[in-house]
Amino acid sequence: MLSYICSICHRIYDSITLVWRCECGGLLDLRSFASHFSIKEAITRPATIWRYIDALPFWGNDKGWKSVSMGEGFTPIVPLDGTGSSIFVKLDYLMPTLSFKDRGAAVLVAKAKEIGVTKLVADSSGNAGTSIAAYANRAGIECHIYVPESTSPKKIQQIVRHGATVHTVPGSRENTAKAAQRAVNEDDVFYASHVYNPYFYQGTKTYAFEVFEQMKEEIPDVVVVPVGNGTLLLGVYYGFKELLDLGLINRMPRILAIQAEGCAPLALAFDNGLATARPVINEGTAAEGIAIANPPRSSQILAAVRETDGVIVTAPESLIDSTRDYLAKKGFYVEPTTAATFAGFFKYVESCIQGRALEKDRLFKVDPFQPGSDRKVVIPLCGAGIKAD
Ligand SMILES: *Cc1c(COP(=O)(O)O)cnc(C)c1O
Ligand SMILES: [Zn+2]
Repeated sequence: MLSYICSICHRIYDSITLVWRCECGGLLDLRSFASHFSIKEAITRPATIWRYIDALPFWGNDKGWKSVSMGEGFTPIVPLDGTGSSIFVKLDYLMPTLSFKDRGAAVLVAKAKEIGVTKLVADSSGNAGTSIAAYANRAGIECHIYVPESTSPKKIQQIVRHGATVHTVPGSRENTAKAAQRAVNEDDVFYASHVYNPYFYQGTKTYAFEVFEQMKEEIPDVVVVPVGNGTLLLGVYYGFKELLDLGLINRMPRILAIQAEGCAPLALAFDNGLATARPVINEGTAAEGIAIANPPRSSQILAAVRETDGVIVTAPESLIDSTRDYLAKKGFYVEPTTAATFAGFFKYVESCIQGRALEKDRLFKVDPFQPGSDRKVVIPLCGAGIKAD
């Protein structure tokens, strides 16, 4: 039986509970379960996240997820361009709702359906909301999405058209989370939070499995990941960790995490050697998808990055728009948050090559943009451009 475990006091909760946070205030994680990963079996199945079903928290004879799935996952990994550099992009914007959030939402909503949920609440700055809305309505679950007033009109439109009720909340992203949590507690409904519900991370871990399979069982040296609440970052970490524990890889790829200059609590905590991030004020950024001033899972994110000998850096705000054009001219039309991921990577590579990055943090001695670099890098393109303008 699957159960949750409190990350602080280790109290166990049955995972059919509506409890979303431990009485002690701790975050809930999923207790480890029998997970089997086999490439041999995976390659015989359709190219979706569900080819790794044996490593997901579902049982073999349980087919409920089939009616929820829209074929999400197994997105292409392609070279950034034809220059022979060692930089690869993974096109996670080619998902049913146009962002990587479908990995997590498909698993979370399939699970909600399995345990008999009829109504759910979630909060989001955009993409998670559109994704949860799409899957919830497909699963026949009544869906309420809380978003900040400032959310892109296109994303709000998409949530409405998927059939969810949208509640716009004035003020910060944190206000929106509080409003959703009040509704959850008052009505005793399922909180389909991509931040708090640990099933979401079971979906995002398929990103790592796909990289492993698509790179022919050779993992990249560096995986670049945008980080706000850490749903992709922690999923990537859990996925590679499982492969390591199974002996399928012999080291973890180093995680290079990118925050927005205008809202970077994790980068600040990383630089200062803190175990937990202190909340910051969001000073404004075009990278709305990673503008999280007080990420609840900050200590797990910081620990994961440090364990891989990784780094957390910021993307210069002034380069986000031009980087968006740069990617579009290579053929990839992405949203500003994804351009920020790339802009942060650029800035970081430059500081390594010019010797400005601290020696211990220098993931690149040779420019990965030049042909023949010995460092393979995979960067996700997380969100589609047309959702943003
Ligand atoms: C959600 C999202 C992110 C950040 O993910 P976190 O889970 O908040 O770290 C980055 N890019 C895009 C396009 C997103 O939708
Ligand atoms: Zn607890």
